[in-house]
Amino acid sequence: MYTLPQNRLSIKNPHYLHSCQPRIVTHFSCAVTTTTNRPETNRVVLEEAQLINKSRDPLLNSGRSLISDDPSLQSTWTHRAWVASGCTSVFVCLAKSTVNSIDANLFLEPILAGLLGYLLADLGSGVYHWGIDNYGDGSTAVFGSQIEAFQGHHKWPWTITRRQFANNLHALARVITFVVVPIDIAINDPVLLSFAAMCSGCIMFSQQFHAWAHGTKSKLPPVVVALQESGVLVSRSQHSAHHRQPYNNNYCIVSGAWNKILDENMVFEALELVFFFKFGVKPRSWAEPNSDWTEETEANLQQNM
Ligand SMILES: [Zn+2]
Ligand SMILES: [Zn+2]
Repeated sequence: MYTLPQNRLSIKNPHYLHSCQPRIVTHFSCAVTTTTNRPETNRVVLEEAQLINKSRDPLLNSGRSLISDDPSLQSTWTHRAWVASGCTSVFVCLAKSTVNSIDANLFLEPILAGLLGYLLADLGSGVYHWGIDNYGDGSTAVFGSQIEAFQGHHKWPWTITRRQFANNLHALARVITFVVVPIDIAINDPVLLSFAAMCSGCIMFSQQFHAWAHGTKSKLPPVVVALQESGVLVSRSQHSAHHRQPYNNNYCIVSGAWNKILDENMVFEALELVFFFKFGVKPRSWAEPNSDWTEETEANLQQNM
């Protein structure tokens, strides 16, 4: 989640939605339906349509693969700097907690606080993900780009696996830096520091856990597969259910520990009713699934090109 102002295939970059793809589909169906009568003409029409769309799309113009070379999926030095600062702030928090725990002869409490931080990070990821999946749009203040990016993620979920590490994490790392550095400076309690370190670390890496949940088992590191299958990290099967109809469950993306509890008790449905009766706002998940929710596979996208 927290997919962030990242998604090149977003509604602000509509060439896939409005320029490229529909034009090609239109011309292609024309060619197919009339091929038996005027094959040469239709071949020209199809090639022309492809040329028009290639000329509008620098990615296609390059003649390279559709996604893998997309610069917006690659890490910049600014991304890497933010991830380094986020990791440093969390590491300092954890180190300070450990040193102060040893000084105070405290062991059980900091460990339990860290576990609580890990569990609450999963719950927080679910609540946040539910909120931006269901409410607001690209013009919403502060969260607009993330809402838009999440809608893009539902349409092209596989692009997250092509995104480079720092590109995927930098926006969360920036938030974590601003939150955790003051904690590092102001707090000395080892229990609070342990909670803060685990919670912030899991939130910062939640986008990586999310990317792994979209990975193929054979291509993931064995240790990641083991962590997913033991429930430490959100599993591929659990998250894949989020990308299937009715698109209103399995929002948590750290460990997924809360998904069953939240879904079986219809917690989000209850919140949606409260929001509806209080503010008259319907969540997106109440609408019939449309093309904004449903996945467009890479094979289809390439085929339509
Ligand atoms: Zn979602
Ligand atoms: Zn996903």
